[in-house]
Amino acid sequence: MCPHGGRLISGEGGLTGARIICHCLLIEAADSLLLVDTGMGLEDTRHPHRRLGAPFTAAFGVRADAAETAFEQIRGLGFDPGDVRHIAVTHLDLDHAGGLPDFPAADVHVFAPEKEAALQPKLRERARYPKCHFEHGPRWQVHAVDGDSWFGFESIRVLPGVDPEVLLIPLTGHSRGHSAVAVRDGDGWMLHCGDAYFHRSEVADPPDCPSGLRVFQSVMAADNSARKHNQERLRELSRDHGNEVRLFCSHDPVELEREQGVPA
Ligand SMILES: [Zn+2]
Repeated sequence: MCPHGGRLISGEGGLTGARIICHCLLIEAADSLLLVDTGMGLEDTRHPHRRLGAPFTAAFGVRADAAETAFEQIRGLGFDPGDVRHIAVTHLDLDHAGGLPDFPAADVHVFAPEKEAALQPKLRERARYPKCHFEHGPRWQVHAVDGDSWFGFESIRVLPGVDPEVLLIPLTGHSRGHSAVAVRDGDGWMLHCGDAYFHRSEVADPPDCPSGLRVFQSVMAADNSARKHNQERLRELSRDHGNEVRLFCSHDPVELEREQGVPA
């Protein structure tokens, strides 16, 4: 996405040319593929106004390019998108779950309050959860907290017994059931923080945030005090366990480049 606002969004450069990405993970397990978030879907790129809404499409400068969808990128890596058996979602906002219809056979792992928000949205939530993303009848696997914990956070293991370990870490606030997704990576962990923060400077020490993003996150939050509290907990995690856990969020292109530079 290429929204207006330049440095108010990206924290650098002029007032145009900001870039926002949708960071997904593809995980190769022994006999299947697992996706963390889907980004927007194939149909969204064909009919962005109708499926995503004209205001969102215009305000965020959505690049309707099928080649950027998870479906096409998985094919580009030489995999069969039909082998995606599981999808763990940070939340179900349109820019994170629009690709669900491209993987109709996959189990969709979601924290319970998020599924309820998406399928029974309040009036002010309707634009973030377009019905067309769920009309195909996703194979929901709804998860609740069950007493497990991870670095002091409540955690839910989505696929017991399957390597690598994938955990939903409820971090509500941005949306009703927003979660991060932790993935074991060798001796350490990756933590896909979804929209718990938007810019790498927010989990830096000392923290900062481009002003446009600061306003946007407060306005969009389902529960702004929970959002702020959980963001503070991520800062503490980054400070105290930054050598064990690599944090990144959905929309920061610099964090994506940093991850792409990590040797496999
Ligand atoms: Zn988002």
